[in-house]
This record gives sequence, C-alpha cells and structure tokens, in this order.
Amino acid sequence: MVIVVMKSNVTAAQIGDVLRRVEAQGLRAHLSRGDDRTIIGVIGDDQPINKEALAALDGVENVLRVTQPFKLASNEFHGERSRIEIGDVTIGGNEVVVMAGPCSVESYDQVMTTARAVRAAGARVLRGGAFKPRTSPYSFQGMGEEGLKILAAARAETGLLVITEVMSPDQVDLVARYADIMQIGARNMQNYALLHAVGEAQRPVLLKRGIAGTIKELLMCAEYILSHGNYQVMLCERGIRTYETATRNTFDLNAIPVLQDLSHLPVIADPSHGVGKSEYVPAVTRGALAAGADGMIIEVHPDPPNAMSDGPQSLTPAQFADLMEQCRRLAEALGRRVASPAPHAVAQGVPVRAAGDSERRGLSGAEGKAAEGDQLGKMLPRLFPL
Ligand code: PEP
Ligand code: MN
Repeated sequence: MVIVVMKSNVTAAQIGDVLRRVEAQGLRAHLSRGDDRTIIGVIGDDQPINKEALAALDGVENVLRVTQPFKLASNEFHGERSRIEIGDVTIGGNEVVVMAGPCSVESYDQVMTTARAVRAAGARVLRGGAFKPRTSPYSFQGMGEEGLKILAAARAETGLLVITEVMSPDQVDLVARYADIMQIGARNMQNYALLHAVGEAQRPVLLKRGIAGTIKELLMCAEYILSHGNYQVMLCERGIRTYETATRNTFDLNAIPVLQDLSHLPVIADPSHGVGKSEYVPAVTRGALAAGADGMIIEVHPDPPNAMSDGPQSLTPAQFADLMEQCRRLAEALGRRVASPAPHAVAQGVPVRAAGDSERRGLSGAEGKAAEGDQLGKMLPRLFPL
C-alpha cells in the first residue's frame, strides 16, 4: 500500500484527479479527510503501484510506501515520534506527562480535593470516569453528564486538562464537549463503531489496550481512528490477562519499546490497572518511565478504602506526591523531565463547558478562535514533517 499525502491547501479538483488516476491504474483508494490534512491510501492487492505517477500530480506533497498493515500508525508513515499538543501540554517528546485522578467521579468534593492535590504534585491532566465500564451491572456505573460537569469545574479551577472515558458512539458528542482527551477503555478497544465515532470527532484520544489484545491489534484499532484524519491518538498499555493471579493484570513492559518502535504515536503507561495493587504501583510506574513511556495515567483517591471503584489500586494524594518526586529524580537520571506543573490556575469565572481549548484558557470569541488556529498551525508541522 502507498499513502498519498496531499498538500494542506489542496483543492477538491486535485483530490478528484488523484482518485481518478488511482482507479485508472486498477487500484482502490481510501480517502481520509481530517480537519488539517487529506490523505489517500492506495491499496494495490497484487497490482504494482506507480508511485512516481502519483507524486507528479498537482496538490500531492508526498507518496510513501508502507508495508505494515497499520499504515497511518506505522513508523514507516511517519518516521519521527508524534507530538500531540493540547493547550500548553505536549504529549510525546522528552517530557513525561502525568495524568492522575480517581477511577470514578463520585462527587464534586472528591474530584476537587483530588484535582488540587494531583496538580500540586505535578500532574498536568486530571482523570476520572463519568461513564464506567464495570464487570457487574450492579456495580456503580458512573455519574454520567453530572460527572462530566464536575470534571469541567475542576479544570476551570486548576487549569488541568481532563481525560474521561467514552463508552459508546452516542456519547461521543457529549463527552467531547467536556473532555480534552477521550479515553477508550480496554473493554472497548475493538468497538469499531466507537473507534469510527472518535475518529470523526477530531479530538485527542487515549486508546487502551484490550485485556486480550495483541500489540498489533492495538495498532490496528488506532488505525481506525487515524483513518478518519484524527491523528491525535495516544496508545495505552494497561496490563493484559495472563495466567498470573497474584496481580490484577500483567503489565506488559515490553509493549512500551515495541509500540515506540512500530509506531510514531505517544505511548502512555497505566500502572494502576496494570498491576492492580497500590503497593506495587510505584515500582511499575518507575519501570514504565525507565522503559521510555511518554506519559503515565495513575489512579489517585483521597480515601481509597471507600472508593466506589478501584480503591485497592488507588494511591492516596501523599503517596502520589511521593511517587512524583521519585519520577522527577528518575527522569533526570535518564536525561528526561517530568512535565512541570501547570504555571497558574485559570481565572475564576471561565465557562464550565469546554467546547475548545480557548474556552479552557478563558479566551473567548475571535481571540479564542485565533489561538486555536495558532495551536493547530504549530501541531501540523510536527505531525507531518514531510
Ligand atoms: C479506567 O481507566 O478506570 C478503566 C476502566 O480502565 P480500563 O479500561 O483499562 O480497564
Ligand atoms: Mn479504574
């Protein structure tokens, strides 16, 4: 398969010319139009593909041959590591970004207490599930939209970005209104309708590895999202199911360097679900950091014994602060840095709903739109240094 990357100012007529040329060669084309870039995947089956003929067409920036089945996710497509810029946080690069917070949003006070504590300890992103995928239908299922509002209020006060899970395609619009990053849970890694929907949403996504998902399957699932032109995808290793019962899951440390070798997408480690017992979370976090993870997602609860979900694997704020200090020292020894804490809290009175990054930062109207445009402009050359 080859991938035709079109120039950013490409016209519909130029795209049409490429599609016609592909079909004239007896090949099939897959068009993916993102907000920023148009890419045409050319599938040859047994037919040879004339790369040069495609490269010569107007509006074409580059033509790349990709042998891996995951095309847009592969290192062959994009040799450099991708960076995803969300507000003033960059994920992928020398700085390790830490996301932290409770497993579930339980109340306003619980989220606020945790958000203030994790921010003070150096986290840049607040996690918390408002829609919870639980093993039992009788367990707490999450607070729904009310939970999303609580997360947005915590973002307005602390300046932390928000990551939260989306469980079904019909929830995507709602969750995208409140969250900076949409999380696809392990149980939904291969929920293709959901992958298509978050692909369409053009918002950052953290895709968790399924408990029985191989590394290749994880990359193929990321490909679904990327194929919609949404390139803001992070891969998450969160432990897999093995025969071992001493821990909740087996954190696959191997996945970190392997994913980074096969793909350009940032890799986030989830030691909390990976090991499932709070006493082992610090060791697994340090291991993931040493293995080169681009970021961490860690469960923190102000009162773990009384948490409504995943208490046994949740750190207290004090344990989390101690772990962050260990991570800073370890990162320094490795020639990396833990992303520095948010510079200042966002002023009071910003809208609770987060339609875009500019609202999060308290900008409005034309000023906000201009800032979002700038941010996109900064991101593109990094994603596509072609
Ligand atoms: C979670 O992040 O709380 C969660 C449910 O994770 P996973 O999908 O990895 O089990
Ligand atoms: Mn959890």
